[in-house]
Amino acid sequence: MSEEKKNSAINVSELDAKFKYEVSDQPGGENLKLCFSCGICTAGCPVTEVENEYNPRKLIRMVLLGMKEEVLSSNLIWFCSLCYTCYARCPQNVKFTDIMGVLRDMAVKEDHVHPSFVKNIDEIDRLSQTIRHKMVRAIFPQKKENKSIDSKNLLKIALENMNKE
Ligand code: SF4
Ligand code: SF4
Repeated sequence: MSEEKKNSAINVSELDAKFKYEVSDQPGGENLKLCFSCGICTAGCPVTEVENEYNPRKLIRMVLLGMKEEVLSSNLIWFCSLCYTCYARCPQNVKFTDIMGVLRDMAVKEDHVHPSFVKNIDEIDRLSQTIRHKMVRAIFPQKKENKSIDSKNLLKIALENMNKE
């Protein structure tokens, strides 16, 4: 069953009214309750572009509603690339990227994931940045040309170069 379908039915008896306070009491979570659900974070999120089940606005609503188990056990909280786009654009200064850090810490502390999983996510993020860096460097010689790129081919070249290093 998809994450979206799992989260669509709210079981009121399982809501935890303290969850929003637990999150907002943590450093980085202070502005959680300022969210007025405008959706600007979701509209600009690069992860939502490739994964339509990932929705920062909806995640914040789930936290505010008290859906603690659903949020902390969800795979969705690990999709965020911590790019800070939502953080910069939010009209309420909610600082969702920092809230994501709080949720991840809670997920580890409450045994929803093993700490090694966080290290693996960090490693994926580091490698993603390395690949991006190599792809950007590869198009520097074309800076002054009106030229579109074949990003898949560029990725292939970047990966081949990395394997040679
Ligand atoms: S942009 Fe800010 S106020 Fe709007 S939904 Fe996202 S977190 Fe909430
Ligand atoms: S920090 Fe996470 S939620 Fe915010 S825009 Fe970037 S990927 Fe999306």
